[in-house]
Amino acid sequence: MSSALSLIRSLFYRPWLLATLAAAGSAILLLLASLGLAMHQLQQGESEQMNAQGERFLERLEQIFGQLREGVDLLEAQPLRSCSPKMVSTLQQVAFQYRFVYEASYVDGVHSCSSRFGEEVVDPLRVPDIQGPTYSYWLNTTTQPNDNLAALMLGRGKFRVSTSRGHLSDVVDLPPNGSLLVILDNDTRAIPVLGPPQIWPPSEQWPPQTQQALVVLSDLLIYRMPTNSPDYQLVLMTPRPSNQLRMNTVLWLLFPGSLLLAWCIGWLVLQVISQRRSLSGELQGALRRGELQVLYQPIFELNSRRCVGAEALVRWRRPDGTLTSPDLFIPLAENTGQIREITDFVIQQLLEQLGHVLRANPHLYISVNLAACDVMAPRIGGVTARLLAIHHVSASQIAFEVTERGLIDVVVARDNLQALRDVGHKVLIDDFGTGYCSLAYLQTLPVDCLKIDKAFIDALGHDAASSGVAPHIIRMAHALELRVIAEGIEYEAQALLLNSEGVNYGQGWLFAHPLSARQFAELVTRGRRMGGRRIDDEP
Ligand code: C2E
Ligand code: MG
Ligand code: MG
Repeated sequence: MSSALSLIRSLFYRPWLLATLAAAGSAILLLLASLGLAMHQLQQGESEQMNAQGERFLERLEQIFGQLREGVDLLEAQPLRSCSPKMVSTLQQVAFQYRFVYEASYVDGVHSCSSRFGEEVVDPLRVPDIQGPTYSYWLNTTTQPNDNLAALMLGRGKFRVSTSRGHLSDVVDLPPNGSLLVILDNDTRAIPVLGPPQIWPPSEQWPPQTQQALVVLSDLLIYRMPTNSPDYQLVLMTPRPSNQLRMNTVLWLLFPGSLLLAWCIGWLVLQVISQRRSLSGELQGALRRGELQVLYQPIFELNSRRCVGAEALVRWRRPDGTLTSPDLFIPLAENTGQIREITDFVIQQLLEQLGHVLRANPHLYISVNLAACDVMAPRIGGVTARLLAIHHVSASQIAFEVTERGLIDVVVARDNLQALRDVGHKVLIDDFGTGYCSLAYLQTLPVDCLKIDKAFIDALGHDAASSGVAPHIIRMAHALELRVIAEGIEYEAQALLLNSEGVNYGQGWLFAHPLSARQFAELVTRGRRMGGRRIDDEP
């Protein structure tokens, strides 16, 4: 833990290194994430396109097969059975009647005649590729990529009707090397209707387990179309560009974008660190120049409204008079380790400024906020003991506030807090309820008092009508025989309700804002009872 912290601290002092690490890390992450996303979208687009193409083909094929069947049925039903001029005109009538019938023909053992008188394309002797109970099918009747030539032929008896490949290819532009295939013989043989022949089956694990129409293989997209006949299947098959090729295209788009974004992140990190570093540098100067000062927010017994002590709160007043909030510089000081110096400064200041008040009022105490690193090492006990000895103040007059977040390692914290209690200091849990302290956990900690966080006091409401969690925390503290201090009391109704719930002590703007040492000393020495009034204000 401590080695991780010192690593972070050392990085903090090498902003360029940290910025470069941040930029490199985010570049890798961005590239991986956007690459994954782009590939996914590419595949999705590819699949969607193939699905759409397949559906359009299927629709057209149904129309074509419907018309071819109707045409050949019509011819089979009429009585003519020889190549006469009347037969030719009947064939022409059918070809004319059906949009998708390109040629109708009659073939018997000796003669053949066609609706396309003189320019027949049907080879009368070719055996059918599929022989069904009623119809016969000839596929890829010509290999020439001429849209006016027949691609598919249907026969019944001695009649044949065929469609031109243009009627198939006008619905979809088949990509280069894509084919429309008819699959025969139990999924083992593929005959192209459009496009070049393809290797079939396309993979070793064929047929695939999926019922979905679209099958995506690493190098092929295969769209299987359902047919009414169990004898054959229709399949649209297109090759996919290789992964590497697709990656290359995607990379060319993503690489510069990700690099630019990563550079921006690195730059941002550099700016933030430089800013934080300059603030931390300024804080170092502030400590040296004495720009830090300590204010004291009085703590009152709620019953008697008597001041029993105060919480020491640090302030950073810059030479131009502006105040920097401790909420801003304390977390930074905790990160850089400057907090130790601040804690020592607060204890030293409070004893120098209020030592005489504490000596004159032995029951008065001042509580000091500790950071996690103060709790994790026994150092603070020694520092305080030395200063207490110089100022002749009792250890019972200095209390320490630790937050739940400050208890990083409970075992170490417990030992150090116990050591502080052993010499007479009180230990308070600050901002109670905002961290992770459970009842069971709390029982094992050597503490004297809980400070309920202002957030829970706010929830009591101005009219004290809503009670929230505060009463539960109070009951829990009492069960553990701990005292309770309520923080941030702003309204009389809150003070009354808290008092009726058994809270002994409170601090907040209702009674007093944080005061200068002089104001606080005045408050104590004059024994001013605050009643409903409050002493103002920060100097
Ligand atoms: P905290 O220890 O919980 O201190 C109480 C904060 O609530 C103080 O803010 C105080 O001014 C404010 N406060 C008190 N009563 C009221 C009220 O009625 N209404 C409102 N709205 N606020 C009230 P501050 O002084 O700005 O301190 C903020 C935090 O900074 C402190 O919270 C503490 O965590 C930290 N801090 C301040 N001084 C020191 C210090 O010397 N050392 C360490 N380690 N932390 C400190
Ligand atoms: Mg505090
Ligand atoms: Mg607090």
